[in-house]
Order: sequence, then structure tokens, then C-alpha cells
Amino acid sequence: MTPLSPFTPQRPLRAAVIGSGPSGIYAAEALIKQTGVPVSVDVFDRLPTPYGLVRYGVAPDHLRIKSVTALFQKVLSDVRVRFLGNVELGRDLSVDELRAHYDAVIYTVGASSDRRLGISGEDLSGSMSATEFVAWYNGHPDAAARQMLLHATGAAVIGVGNVALDVSRILAKTALELHESDIAAHALKALANSQVSDVYVLGRRGPAQAKFTTKELREFGELHAADVIVKPEEIALSDEAYAAITDNTVRKNVDVLREFAARPPEGKPRRVHLRFLVSPTELLDDGAGHVAGLRIERNRLDDAGNAVGTGVVETLPVQMVLRSVGYRGVALSGVPFDERRGVIPNTLGRVEGGRGEYTSGWIKRGPSGVIGTNKADSVETVGSLLEDASGLSPAPHSSREAIDALLASRGIEVVTLADWQSLEAHELAQGQQAGRPRVKVAHREQMFEVIRKGRA
Ligand code: NAP
Repeated sequence: MTPLSPFTPQRPLRAAVIGSGPSGIYAAEALIKQTGVPVSVDVFDRLPTPYGLVRYGVAPDHLRIKSVTALFQKVLSDVRVRFLGNVELGRDLSVDELRAHYDAVIYTVGASSDRRLGISGEDLSGSMSATEFVAWYNGHPDAAARQMLLHATGAAVIGVGNVALDVSRILAKTALELHESDIAAHALKALANSQVSDVYVLGRRGPAQAKFTTKELREFGELHAADVIVKPEEIALSDEAYAAITDNTVRKNVDVLREFAARPPEGKPRRVHLRFLVSPTELLDDGAGHVAGLRIERNRLDDAGNAVGTGVVETLPVQMVLRSVGYRGVALSGVPFDERRGVIPNTLGRVEGGRGEYTSGWIKRGPSGVIGTNKADSVETVGSLLEDASGLSPAPHSSREAIDALLASRGIEVVTLADWQSLEAHELAQGQQAGRPRVKVAHREQMFEVIRKGRA
């Protein structure tokens, strides 16, 4: 035990982790893995379900990536850790109340909003962020009731990161392919009836500047019902430029794109067009407020590698536009926020100007990296917290009972780990019946129906 730490096994350091996505769970794990300071950790989530983007962000057909939840469940099952779902900071609890009940608070709320394009027509119906579309097909309770894909035959996806590839691949897959995924039932039904035949994925710069990774790119060569189309002139690179590529992923991306460009289309019913050096300039209105097309301009790269318009324009026949140009963090009331970067300003995870406050994950460093990136990030933050432990002033009302009583007095139906486990068992059983990995419960009320049955 750190000699100067005021915390003991009888009065452990009580930490609140706000957000149960990967960075939150890795922070809880880092806290319980060390033995220097006795801890008690409450992991909050505004949703009734844990795991954040692993449940609601990772593509439904990337099931292997989701197997990390076995480790997450182990962390939440530790006697020193509790899961408190359905508790929203700002709505159910204020930051001041958190400070009064916990010796340390770690904000791991991710980046729930998205960046915008800032072009005309962006708010037409049929235009939305990839974030919204992902939330819909992954059964996020805030998006489950939306209607999607009603009349679209063409869809444009702006951006060439991994999220853009995820949404494009889901649009291009058949119902049979999607059946093997854990895509939400409402989305499976809508996609099974989808009329979308052409998906245009638009990169504003060249193939060597694309942000996606090669494994994800290769998946487009294996789609049952969609040809992948690449224009050789849009991925042209001189021998010198190719030889100058130092990044292994970039070189492999370019190799795979060259292979795609050389492939004759097989005449499959759908096509995914991977386009480069084009920027969207305007979404066209069909006269009734719906997207009727997307105007794009051809670019060239300047010496610094930035896209510069050439004035050559083209119109894509699309009725759906998904902007996939990056996520953005949202400010928490009462917590410092850097508006420009969309993050909580911090040094090694210590919130600037905070009192026993820390941060990790996308809200700490911005929306980049894969799930595992959050492990090192949270280890760094918890390292800072433990370094500070001897100087933290113990919170006045710090006990599990005190926070439970406060939430109960507000009539908040806290979802526990046992509740989540009964909901998950239900989803898996429904999946087994349907011959699918899982059938997600997407609506809040239905989640609570299942949870209450499990408690009875
Ligand atoms: P991202 O990787 O940052 O990609 C954003 C894309 O949007 C870039 O191609 C960027 O182009 C483009 N863009 C930005 N502003 C634009 C504009 N105004 N017009 C046109 N294009 C614009 O972001 P992301 O795809 O949202 O992914 C976020 C993170 O999650 C990444 O680290 C990603 O790898 C990770 N992720 C991983 C997986 C996986 O491992 N399977 C799946 C999903 C997400 P420029 O480069 O020109 O700015």
C-alpha cells in the first residue's frame, strides 16, 4: 500500500468511471489490477447496456472483434467493481454530486457526435452521419425507431476511414450474409428489402492518404452480390511515389486497390465504387426535401498532399448520403471542454483544472485508434490517478449505499451487471432460436421488460 495514501481496505479509494465502453472498462481493469491502493469502482453508463462502441459501434459482421466483451465482463464481475447502467450524468447525477460521492472520477464517454461537411443540402432527408446509420443497424435504443433506406437505389459514403468501409459493406451485403451477423432485426429486415444497387465511397485525397486498414479493404473483394469497382486513373501513382511509401498498411492498401482496379466486374447485382480524389460539393434536393443526387468535384493533390478542386464536376445518382468524416466529442456540463478539438483538456489523463478528475479514450485523445488503443490510454490515466492518490481528499459521502440511496430517491431504475446478464442471456437464446449469433433487444422499454422478468 502507498504509505501516504489515505485509502485503506475499510475505506478504499472510490472511483466513478463515466462510460462503460472500452476505455471505461480498461480504466476499471487498470484500477483493480494494481495492489498499491485499495479501490472500489462504480462504472456508470447512460444506457441500460454496457460496452459502448463494442456493442453499438463495431460492425455487426465483425463478431470476432466483439469477443473482447468476455474480458470486459470479467472486469465488471470483480467484487470491487459495480456496473450502474441507465444513469446519465447531467440528467440523473450532476458533476458536483459525483465529486461529493467519489474520491476520483474518470470520464470515458467517447465521442458521440459527428463532424459535418458544411456543404449545401447536408440537412436534406436521406442525408445523415454514418454514426446515425451505425447506431440504427446496431440496435442502439436512440436510433432503433428510425426508418431507413425507403427508396434509395444509390448511396454515397463520404470519407475513406474504417467507419466508411463498415457502412458501405453493410449496405452491399445480402440478407443471407447479414443473417450471420448480430445486426439488429429491424435493420436486417430493411436491408433485406433494400433497393440500393450502387454504393459510392468517396475519398477526397488519393489512395495513399486513405485511412482504412487493409483487412477491412480486402473484404470488398469477397462480397457475394457486389462487384468492387475502382477507376485505375483515380489510384494512379508514379513508380517513384509508390517506392516512396514507407507505411506498410498504405502500401498494402494501394496493392489491393490496384488488384481491384484490374478485376473485370462479374456482373453482380450490386456495385461498390471506391472513388478517390473527389469531394462532395452539394446535395441536390428532389423538390420535396429529399436527397436527389450528390454533386462532386474532382481534386488534385498539392505538394503538401492536400486536396485542391479542379473545377471538373459530376453528379452521382444517389438518394442517401452518409457522411463518415470522423466522430466528435460532446461537452459534459460542468467539465472543461476543448471545443476546437472536441476533447476534455488533460495532461496524461488529468483533467485540466479538475478536482480528482481524469479522462480516457476518445474524449481524452480524439476519435482515433482501435479498441486495444484504449487499454494503454486508460493505463496511462490510471497511472496519473494513482500517482495523485496520496493527495486526493476523500469525498464526504463516499459509500456504495450513499450513491444507491441518492439514485433511488430520484426513482432511477439502475441496471446492474446481473440485470445485463439476464438481458444478454435472453438475446443469445433468441439468437439460437433464429439461427443467429444474437438477436439484440433494441428498444429501451423492451430491455426493461426482459430485465424485470429476469429479476422476478
Ligand atoms: P477516420 O479514420 O479519421 O477517417 C475519416 C475520413 O474522413 C478520412 O478519410 C478523411 O479524409 C475524411 N474526411 C474528413 N473530412 C472530410 C471532408 N470534409 N470531406 C471529405 N472527406 C473528409 O475516422 P473513422 O472512419 O470515423 O474512424 C474512427 C476510428 O475508429 C479510426 O481510428 C478507425 O480506424 C477506427 N475504426 C476501426 C475499425 C476496425 O478496426 N475495423 C472500424 C471502425 C472504426 P482526410 O484524410 O483527407 O482528412
